[in-house]
Amino acid sequence: MKAANTILECPICNQAATKKYLPFCSKRCSDIDLGRWFNGSYTIAGDKTSEGQETDDELES
Ligand SMILES: [Zn+2]
Repeated sequence: MKAANTILECPICNQAATKKYLPFCSKRCSDIDLGRWFNGSYTIAGDKTSEGQETDDELES
């Protein structure tokens, strides 16, 4: 079941999302969402700190 013309709501302000900024209504809300990520509001429950996951493997010369 696919609803073809479902109007997506901006997860930030619940207004109708615009195509350009999907799934947000505006750049502003998009930025707000990004900010949330960077502030760590979306951290997954369960404080798993994966140690030893270093990303300098490709530095071999
Ligand atoms: Zn919005």
